[in-house]
Amino acid sequence: MGIPLNQMARIGAYIVKNEIRRVPRYPLVLMLEPLFRCNLACAGCGKIDYPAPILNQRLSVEDCLSAADECPAPVVVIAGGEPLLHRELPEIVERLLAKGKFVTVCTNALLLEKKLHQYKPHKNFNWSVHLDGDQTHHDKSVCQTGVYDKCVEAIRVSKAAGFRININCTLFNDAEPENVARFLDTLKPLGVDGITISPGYAYERAPDQQHFLNRTATKTLFREIFKRGRNGRNWDFFQSGLFLDFLAGNQTYHCTPWGNPTRTIFGWQKPCYLLGEGYAKTYKELMETTDWDSYGTGNYEKCADCMVHSGFEATAVRDGFKHPLKLLSLSLKGPRTSGEMAPDISLENQRPAEFVFSRHVEHKLKEIGAAKTGTEHLTDAAE
Ligand code: SF4
Repeated sequence: MGIPLNQMARIGAYIVKNEIRRVPRYPLVLMLEPLFRCNLACAGCGKIDYPAPILNQRLSVEDCLSAADECPAPVVVIAGGEPLLHRELPEIVERLLAKGKFVTVCTNALLLEKKLHQYKPHKNFNWSVHLDGDQTHHDKSVCQTGVYDKCVEAIRVSKAAGFRININCTLFNDAEPENVARFLDTLKPLGVDGITISPGYAYERAPDQQHFLNRTATKTLFREIFKRGRNGRNWDFFQSGLFLDFLAGNQTYHCTPWGNPTRTIFGWQKPCYLLGEGYAKTYKELMETTDWDSYGTGNYEKCADCMVHSGFEATAVRDGFKHPLKLLSLSLKGPRTSGEMAPDISLENQRPAEFVFSRHVEHKLKEIGAAKTGTEHLTDAAE
């Protein structure tokens, strides 16, 4: 099991509190994107396609802390862009931990060794290193050779320094089950504590649009992978068993977009981490003004093939809380990898996609021009 007991216990207590109070929508993970700038340009990434004035923007330490105060999620995941390019990240991490949050920093690991001394190991802190497969596969995925080797070395050095390390693995339609299974086998001996695995989301701004998985292909792929590791029990996932069962086609789940609310330099992103269809100034405004029913599989064209953990993990966690026996059986047997799949949600009545990206960019550029905030001082010029 890749999830530490103290984290499971605290999140469990938080869910119980919210369920007893019958809170209809509550967050589990705050996704904090303090910058969009990255030192890689991966083909499947839809996060970095912005003009330079936007890529130069940073959330300040105070922005990050007040986001964590507004949003009651017990876990904060810091993503981007590449968070290690943010000069004030060590202070952000330290002060979020001091607030009692569980903090994960997602990184492509290119700068990890160099910056590791700025951080201290903590029981509630872990690195999540982006690693999409073995050397050939990962280097192809990030469009640069040598990155896999740097990741492996950074994992080794970080473990030796006492840090907890997860890996974050995104799969596309060129993933081969046998190859993925053998890659997962290599992670424990490397010292990796937990694995987060998910199909990629078909970002409309990603340069490579050919390699995203549809729902049926995703379920078949995960069944084939899990089969090769005692129905997935060979590997320590940093995820709920029911989310893995969903990936294997055994659960019909609607997403929980408010489970991972997202704060970026644009504001609070509507409706979820994957889709930027609008922005709210505060977390409260996000929760109260988003038309949640107009999103999700079956409701909106852009959601048709989404099975990403940031959208469905919260659904799985809540389901597990309500059906502990289902969870217990899964932890003993792992996800079912044969037989009929759970029915899928009909796409018959979904509304067509709206394309709003350029409007948001234009609006932000005007705002930057008017404010001349000079946040470039937060850019780490050394990178
Ligand atoms: S299905 Fe849900 S989580 Fe996925 S993109 Fe749509 S709203 Fe976001």
